[in-house]
Amino acid sequence: MNSRPGVNSAPTVSNFGYEPCTYPESPKNRHLVVETKYISVDPYMRCRMNVDSGVDYAKAWGIGETISGFAVGRVLQSTNESYKKGDLVTSTDMSWQWKKFTVVHSESIRKIDGISEEQSSLTLGIFGLTGLTGAIGVMEQGNIQSDLFQTVVVSGAAGACGCVAGQVAKLLGCKKIIGICGTQEKCSFLEEDLKFNGAVCYKSENVKQRLAELCPDGVDVYFDNVGGNISDDVISHMNKCSTVILCGQISTYNSDVPYPPPLNQASAKLVHANSINRERFLVLSYANKFPSTLAFLSKAYAEGKLVSKETISHGLQNAGNAFVQMMSGYNIGKQIVKV
Ligand code: NDP
Repeated sequence: MNSRPGVNSAPTVSNFGYEPCTYPESPKNRHLVVETKYISVDPYMRCRMNVDSGVDYAKAWGIGETISGFAVGRVLQSTNESYKKGDLVTSTDMSWQWKKFTVVHSESIRKIDGISEEQSSLTLGIFGLTGLTGAIGVMEQGNIQSDLFQTVVVSGAAGACGCVAGQVAKLLGCKKIIGICGTQEKCSFLEEDLKFNGAVCYKSENVKQRLAELCPDGVDVYFDNVGGNISDDVISHMNKCSTVILCGQISTYNSDVPYPPPLNQASAKLVHANSINRERFLVLSYANKFPSTLAFLSKAYAEGKLVSKETISHGLQNAGNAFVQMMSGYNIGKQIVKV
């Protein structure tokens, strides 16, 4: 990390450096040398660019420190008998350094079986933390009941978590899925490829008006990835005793506000008056649900009932740019860097 963007600014490519480094020394004590194949860039990384990350699950990076996160790679040298040279492995925590050749701890990875290297990036998306977030958020905090013909709205709908959240809500029997996203191209993707029932482009359409047209019976479940004005508009359409899954608030990540930021007065009043259940969701609190949810996602994907979409940038030297672009809406589906 070259420099910090500052708490009230969008990150830029110049915040990231790219430089040669030495090949790792022989690994010791259950560590492995791996060759990085794919890396994941994620919104939570924005908070690690501040002096204080402001969250308890991730520390801030120091200036000059190598960026780290989730990644996939091949084992080159191992000191753990469970892993041998050539195995494909994926991260189980956010400690994989953005280096072509790097050292990982055997407890920070798991082996990927039954999937080719070409497809291994799926373990950073639909079969990784973002897929789990979309699925577990809906399953555990959505109050989904298939006999109630519920209407579900997803913001950040064409992103990694949003795509999975909307599709899983449909798989669980919800009647109507509406996505909110930033471009017409994303709207078409949601309606045509993911079979959402409707989509709203918040940059070119009046969200409140479009929701009134698309959701005449009100909104029962809102999967909130973005917060801010978009969420205020959705909350104004929510039914009594409906549910907000507070997954993320990306519209505030480039500003100095606590997480989650407080609702404005009008929305807070509505949440109270309509007994809207609005609780913070953190996927890491549901680690016990990971195996069963991955099995559910794998089965649905294999049966063609779940679509995965990735936006792939090429080259480690472009990872900073991929992050910056993802934060401003360039990606459809999961943003990945192919090293
Ligand atoms: P995405 O793939 O959705 O990428 C980010 C997207 O956010 C962009 O493509 C852009 O799409 C949208 N965006 C950026 N700025 C704004 C803005 N000001 N207003 C509205 N939308 C904006 O990322 P993820 O799927 O990885 O993450 C989505 C959310 O889920 C984030 O808030 C993240 O922090 C959260 N998250 C939460 C987890 C949890 O455990 N609670 C775990 C993982 C992620 P567009 O074109 O639509 O603007």
